[in-house]
Amino acid sequence: MKTVLITGSSRGIGAAIARRLNDEYKIIINYNKSKDKAMELLDELRSTNPNVIALKADVSNEDEVENMFAIAEKNFGHVDILINNAGISHFSLIQDIDFDTWKNVINTNLNSVFLNSKRAIPNMISNQYGVIINMSSIWGDFGASMEALYSTSKGGINTFTKAMAKELAPSGIRVNAIAPGIVDTDLMRNDFTKSELEDLKKEVSINRFAKPEEIAGLVRYLISDEASYITGDIIHINGGFY
Ligand code: NAP
Repeated sequence: MKTVLITGSSRGIGAAIARRLNDEYKIIINYNKSKDKAMELLDELRSTNPNVIALKADVSNEDEVENMFAIAEKNFGHVDILINNAGISHFSLIQDIDFDTWKNVINTNLNSVFLNSKRAIPNMISNQYGVIINMSSIWGDFGASMEALYSTSKGGINTFTKAMAKELAPSGIRVNAIAPGIVDTDLMRNDFTKSELEDLKKEVSINRFAKPEEIAGLVRYLISDEASYITGDIIHINGGFY
C-alpha cells in the first residue's frame, strides 16, 4: 500500500482527494487552521481504512514541514506520493497589494511546493519511485485581472513542475500539475458575490463549476500506474472555460 501525503486536505479539493484515495492508499491528511474539519475527516476515513493520520503543519514553514514528514515517516516509512494542494486565493488590483500580502501568498502557494517537494524527493530517489502532483490553476497559464498575485504563484508552480519532471524522471519520479478552472469550494465562494458567481458560470461551456470530486478523480488517475507515461504536464480541467 503506497503512502500519499495531501497538503491542505482539511477541506475542499484536498479533502475530496483524501476520500477518493482512501480505499487504496495510506493517507496523511495535512491541515493548518481547520483542525475540527481535519479530525472529522480522519474519523470518516478511519472507519474503513486504519492507515490514515492527520498532521498539523503550515506548509510554508520549513520547520513545520520537516516535523510533518518526520512523523509521517515514523508511521508509514516514507511518502511515495506527494500532492501539493494547499493554497489560498487573493483578489485585488495590483497597486492595492501590500508587500506582506504578496509574500504570504507566494509563501503559501509556491514556496510550500518547493519545501514539501524538497523534503519528499530524497526518499523517492532512494526508492526509484515517486509521484508529485502540484495543484495549479487555469490562471497559472492565462493570468487573470485582479488575480495577478494568485496567477503568478500558479505560473511559478507550472514552471517548477516542468523543471522537476525533467530533473527527476531518471530517478523514476513523475511530476505533473493539475490546472482546474473554477471548483465549488470555500476558496472561490469567499471571493465572489452570488450574482458574480452566476455570471462566471455562464462563461463555462459545461455551465457549472467543477465538483471537488471531479478534480480528485483526475488525481487518482494521474498517480496510478495507468498514467506511467505522463510527466512534466499541466493537465487542464475546466469544463470548457478555456
Ligand atoms: P479551500 O477549500 O479554501 O481549501 C484550502 C486548503 O488549503 C485547506 O485545507 C487549508 O487548510 C489549506 N491551507 C491553506 N493554507 C495552508 C497552509 N499554510 N498550510 C497548510 N494548509 C494550508 O481551497 P480549494 O478550492 O480546495 O483549493 C485547493 C487548491 O486548489 C489550492 O491550491 C487552490 O489554489 C487550487 N485551485 C482551486 C480552485 C477553485 O476554484 N476552488 C481552482 C483552481 C485551483 P486549513 O483550513 O486547515 O488551514
